[in-house]
Amino acid sequence: MPYQNSPITATMPCRSCDTEISAIARECPYCGAEQFDTRSSALAMRDMPSERRGLTAGLLCLLVGVFGAHRFYVGKHATGFLMLVTLGGVGIWWLADLIMLITGQFRDKDGRRVTEWI
Ligand SMILES: [Zn+2]
Repeated sequence: MPYQNSPITATMPCRSCDTEISAIARECPYCGAEQFDTRSSALAMRDMPSERRGLTAGLLCLLVGVFGAHRFYVGKHATGFLMLVTLGGVGIWWLADLIMLITGQFRDKDGRRVTEWI
C-alpha cells in the first residue's frame, strides 16, 4: 500500500471541477472533462485577466456569496457547491473570498485573476 501512493505522483486540479487528479490524466475521472493541452495553455494564460467581471462577481459575493454564487459565476462549481452546503464556511470562507475579490486576487476556474471590473 505505501508504494501505491508514491510521493512523486503529481496532481493538478481538474480544469472543470477543481478536483485534484493526476497531472498526466487525459480525462477527469470525476467529471469526464478532457485535460490535455488546455491545461498547459491555461497555465500560460494565468497572467491574463479573467473574462469574468469583478463587479458581477463582487455583487454576487456580497449579496449571495454564502451560497457560493460568485464561485459558480467564475466556473468553480465544485467549490461553489462546497460553499453552498457549508454556508460560506460559516462566513469565514465567504469573507476571505470577498477580500480576495476586492483586492483583485480572486481567480476563475482557469486560474486567471478577476481584475476587470466592468
Ligand atoms: Zn473534473
